[in-house]
Amino acid sequence: MQTTHAIIKTHTAHHNELLALLLAGLGDRIAVHLTRVDLPAGAVLEQTQRGETYTYFPNNALISLLCVIENGKAAEIGMVGSEGMVGIEGLTGGRNPYVQVKVQCAGTAFRLPTGLLRDEFNRHDDVRWPILRYMQSMIAQIGQAVICARHHSIEQQLCRKLLMSSDRLRSNTLTLTQGTIAEVLGVRREGVTAAAGALKHRGVIEYRRGHIRILDRAGLEARSCECYEVINSQCHLLRSRESCAATRDRRPPPRVEQRSCSAAGRHTTLGNAAA
Ligand SMILES: [Zn+2]
Repeated sequence: MQTTHAIIKTHTAHHNELLALLLAGLGDRIAVHLTRVDLPAGAVLEQTQRGETYTYFPNNALISLLCVIENGKAAEIGMVGSEGMVGIEGLTGGRNPYVQVKVQCAGTAFRLPTGLLRDEFNRHDDVRWPILRYMQSMIAQIGQAVICARHHSIEQQLCRKLLMSSDRLRSNTLTLTQGTIAEVLGVRREGVTAAAGALKHRGVIEYRRGHIRILDRAGLEARSCECYEVINSQCHLLRSRESCAATRDRRPPPRVEQRSCSAAGRHTTLGNAAA
């Protein structure tokens, strides 16, 4: 196991935002129990191993939460990257056997025993509130996935998927095949091929051998459905409340704090995607 110093140093290099908040609150009490793990693409994440259940904080990996039905078909109900955590249901002692946790883009994550996190969650506001706010953003994401699949075109869904993946990977280059995208969207591959071809023709993206590069982010946003903005706005609002709460702890309470938090939330961005 890495030393605490090494863990924090490595953590800073890759940066999971939610874990950073928890470390700011508890520091070594959590850090000494973190283990860095490699997550290969396509792997199904088993959260319980040898009787121990783990929570994962992706650094530069992208993970899909897939709802699988009896005939084996699946659709993505959520995705987790450097902004969040996998295994949130472990904090309430439950697990949904119909949800498969699959690594979509390879990378690393930090792993923490869920029982330890649950104890800290029950004891400390510094752990509980960031996780509850993240849980709220995931509920919004799952709800939006339902309406998106029902009412928006494959091209709109593809644009949303690429934007959300880019944000969570902090990169404009994505290692995603059209087959993988079709699987997680729960649509036919031919539909994804046609939509991706149209985006390529307009110069919005380029792709080759399982690598997709976003060339025109504004163009991609313009062709996405409103679901991307709805999900993003939830993340921004919760994040701005988090930063406002931290500021409030250091300063006398401002008179119009809630209003200023909401306004800030509309103008921040979730990720810092590289060009
Ligand atoms: Zn949509």
